[in-house]
Amino acid sequence: MVLRGLSTRMGGEAQQNDERQPSASCYNRPMNTYPLHPVELKEQTVNFRALPPLSLYVHVPWCARKCPYCDFNSHEARSGLLEREYVAALIRDLELALPQIWGRKVYTVFIGGGTPSLLSARAIEDILAAARMLLPLEVNAEITLEANPGTVEAERFAGYRSAGVNRLSLGIQSFNDAHLKALGRIHNAAEARRAAEIARQHFDNINLDLMYGLPQQPIEDAGQDAVTALGYAPQHLSCYHLTLEPNTAFHRHPPALPDEEASSEMQRRIEQLLAAHGYRHYETSAFAKPQKQSRHNLNYWQFGDYLGIGAGAHSKLSFSDKVLRQARHKQPQAYLDAVARGSPVQAEHEVGRDDLAFEFMMNALRLNEGFDEALFAERTGLSLLVLRRELGEAGRRGLLLRDRQRIAPTELGRRFLNDLLQIFLPAKN
Ligand code: SF4
Repeated sequence: MVLRGLSTRMGGEAQQNDERQPSASCYNRPMNTYPLHPVELKEQTVNFRALPPLSLYVHVPWCARKCPYCDFNSHEARSGLLEREYVAALIRDLELALPQIWGRKVYTVFIGGGTPSLLSARAIEDILAAARMLLPLEVNAEITLEANPGTVEAERFAGYRSAGVNRLSLGIQSFNDAHLKALGRIHNAAEARRAAEIARQHFDNINLDLMYGLPQQPIEDAGQDAVTALGYAPQHLSCYHLTLEPNTAFHRHPPALPDEEASSEMQRRIEQLLAAHGYRHYETSAFAKPQKQSRHNLNYWQFGDYLGIGAGAHSKLSFSDKVLRQARHKQPQAYLDAVARGSPVQAEHEVGRDDLAFEFMMNALRLNEGFDEALFAERTGLSLLVLRRELGEAGRRGLLLRDRQRIAPTELGRRFLNDLLQIFLPAKN
């Protein structure tokens, strides 16, 4: 399956072109220069010298209305928000999780959803105050909140800033009324513009989410949305291609979408425009001014650790000899009940050695500049030698470049990211 450059959506915002050409010779190192024998490779166990950086993710599971393309864990807030109960549960959830992250510094916090801006500034302040009290939060921690451009939410932006949020991520999607309507969004173009203005007044670090490849969208409109977004001089832009995800209304009743060629042209125009305005295309869907990459999402892509609290939140936590993945109860009421019982985690498993290597590549190869070779061992606790065969194959097919201790997707690899990742898929016995 082909994965276009900007086509994968990693959840809200979330989750640097390198023009070097593939160099097959990089893959032709004599194998006998490697110290480990194949039998030893098979027996390699996870062993961390130092644990990866840790982030905190806080999930708010409600939205005013469910968008027809959305497959996130978001629920219509039909009978109100249960704000007080939910904030208390989040704090209790964090307290219960503490033994798993004792003493570890937290570098970023991301309050995502759902629609976190449905919560009052007071609720956000309570969540952040608890995080500061319970965790060693880095002094300059990046603290992002996802917000929607509705009028009520925009009025709260000043309060979020006072509460300690220092980065606002706005789910604009489009500045065009017809396309917002086709996406089932509850805000209109005027509200999107107003929200972007207010965000700029109160924050010096904002992200705008845009979508393209929308139902019946002419190519010019995608470019126009990017031009309008640039008018607000955001530090970061996330541009997602609309995809029809299973279990969504759009998947059941697909709208008429632009064809592959038109979508590629939209993508090309957006990339060119943003590059001309000084934004680096550093990840599949993400563009940033220098030093303004999303530190939180970068930690995901560099296979760092994260503790996720809230309904349906996921965690990845490393220990000296293993990596655990956890998922919390998805339904808001089930989550509240589970926290009350003292056990918010619904499922937990240790990530196997082969899956660890694959998951690392699945994240790190989204980065246009790829990763330093040493990062693999730092973040998986394994030697990069476990991927010796796969790296060789990806290099021979021109999908991966390995040069001066860096491993990065080539332009071809970025265009056909799924083909590249399939090489690293672990064989199932
Ligand atoms: S506002 Fe965002 S999280 Fe909520 S339903 Fe729409 S796309 Fe999903």
